[in-house]
Amino acid sequence: MRPTDIPPTSGGMSVRARTMTPVPTPSPTALDVLRSTFGYDSFRGEQEEIIGHVVGGGDALVLMPTGGGKSLCYQIPALVRPGVGVVISPLIALMHDQVTAMEALGVRAGFLNSTQSSDQRRQTEHAALAGELDLLYLAPERLGMAGTTTLLDRLEVSIFAIDEAHCVSQWGHDFRPDYLRLSVLQERWPDVPRIALTATATPATRREIVQRLGLTQAREFVASFDRPNITYRIEPKQQPLAQLVSLINAEHSGDAGIVYCLSRASVEKTAEALGGEGITALPYHAGLPAPVRAANQSRFLRDDGIVMVATIAFGMGIDKPDVRFVAHLDLPKSIEGYYQETGRAGRDSLPATAWMAYGLADVVQLRQLIARSEGDAAHKRLQGQHLDAMLGLCETMHCRRQVVLEYFGQKSEPCGNCDTCLTPPEAWDGTVAAQKLLSTVVRLKRERNQRFGAGQLIDILRGNRTAKVDQWEHHQLSTFGIGTDLDDQQWRAVVRQLLSTSALAVSGDGHGTLEITETSWPVLRGERAVQLRQDAHPRAVRKGRKTADAGGGGSRSRAAAASGLEANEKDLFESLRSWRGETARAAGVPAYVVFSDATLVGISRARPATLGELSAVSGVGAKKLESYGDAVLTVVAGT
Ligand code: ADP
Ligand code: ZN
Repeated sequence: MRPTDIPPTSGGMSVRARTMTPVPTPSPTALDVLRSTFGYDSFRGEQEEIIGHVVGGGDALVLMPTGGGKSLCYQIPALVRPGVGVVISPLIALMHDQVTAMEALGVRAGFLNSTQSSDQRRQTEHAALAGELDLLYLAPERLGMAGTTTLLDRLEVSIFAIDEAHCVSQWGHDFRPDYLRLSVLQERWPDVPRIALTATATPATRREIVQRLGLTQAREFVASFDRPNITYRIEPKQQPLAQLVSLINAEHSGDAGIVYCLSRASVEKTAEALGGEGITALPYHAGLPAPVRAANQSRFLRDDGIVMVATIAFGMGIDKPDVRFVAHLDLPKSIEGYYQETGRAGRDSLPATAWMAYGLADVVQLRQLIARSEGDAAHKRLQGQHLDAMLGLCETMHCRRQVVLEYFGQKSEPCGNCDTCLTPPEAWDGTVAAQKLLSTVVRLKRERNQRFGAGQLIDILRGNRTAKVDQWEHHQLSTFGIGTDLDDQQWRAVVRQLLSTSALAVSGDGHGTLEITETSWPVLRGERAVQLRQDAHPRAVRKGRKTADAGGGGSRSRAAAASGLEANEKDLFESLRSWRGETARAAGVPAYVVFSDATLVGISRARPATLGELSAVSGVGAKKLESYGDAVLTVVAGT
């Protein structure tokens, strides 16, 4: 940041002055930097304490949910302390954007990674040595190179920030071997404060980070993992694509969103189908050529309102703040994964949706995957526990947020912003239905030594004379036709819920055949009642309607980001959004680098007539005021 960026009253100074003149000048305070550079009024949650601790030279481990505001926790200390802040990040593909976003704020930043030519790297190194950088982003593998250690030896390093610190965990899903090198930081530069940050919260991961990074002396900051602006919804999967289209058209048309699918094939199919519905959707999975992946990711970040259909390969480090919805078409394997993925929605704190369609086939598929996996018994048990917790969340009669937060060890009240809070589900006594189903499984096994999957069992119970029923003479069974009181969907819900609570199991034979468990017997003997959740009917399939029931116009969608705005404020928001789009395109930067949705909402409310009024809006710092102030005032005056 430059001296002119700080109001004269703040007593601030520039990094350049600091590094080029030996005369000590008072440093800007953290609050000065927050206000003048970032344009924010006040710190969020524990940011102030964390920043104070690191500025004072302490080490820190920061656990905050996605969107919690981790970046400021290292960016501000790097600006306040003398020297250059070195940020270790595995997100090579995003470093360029991160640097661009910093530069848009007037922060002098650079990066070193393998995507650059050696010339480009040399330039960055020169800038760092000349004291011209406040922040240097570094790929972890560079720490294994002599050139890098020599460079760091010659620099005055203000702090080391270790982003996505859970990548050091060998048991986690994002393990990067290069992260093991990071122990060198403490060994070689013991006096430089280190701050490790992650959104992965389980105690096991936390312990591993502390141990491997040598952070035993570090202060731990654990934020609340609640993301109150996200509405959580899980509905039964019936016609998943139609359900998704209905969601987008009714609530999110024109919004940016991420749709997660389990397989590459379903990613492609879904992206194409959404395209056919007039929704701009791009695919992303590890099987696509790297340039296609990079291009799709870049379009998603840069343009407004793109839907990314992806496997879980997509998302880490995507700090696009205005993702308005995250949809899951397949069941995630753990609550941790689910929460990280859904956490990518609504980082800007504006209303956002986490929606999932979930059905019997998901449970069968994942249970089977675990049964057939290569791992040892302990590993399988662990995977089974993860899945059980996830299924518990899907089938709960309680507040979804309470269930998730409890999983992360945090107590909370019912949230009022999830589907079970908004429309409490009804329970029904499924004991007799469960007994009918379980006894059919038992009879098949005892009388004929046969095992079948859900489809055949339901046909037997419903008394359907299908070819397969005739072939196996299942109409002769005493349970044939005893379940006509429930329809197909309802029976599937019964099977699904019994599987979720392990009162029924899927065998590892790969055919989805069902088996009795220990837990089945008390139910069969009438010692244990079975309470089931009454499935709601998803909007898209109500009355057999196959496609979306909303008009698909863009106007309602914008409500998601601009909800809470008056009609004339919404008009202004739209004008500002299209101005932002043009400006970002002309500059070749992502739209959010210009201003976030949250800031556009703030401007729409404030209707500033002067630069002074504009600068009071959250997210308008000195540099952005200088770059865009006049243009914004023109848009406001003209709308
Ligand atoms: P994380 O890295 O924890 O996922 P970010 O650092 O990307 O979260 O922050 C999420 C959003 O919140 C960003 O748009 C950021 O600018 C904004 N933000 C962070 N701290 C504050 C604050 N104190 N006041 C207002 N906005 C903030
Ligand atoms: Zn709730």
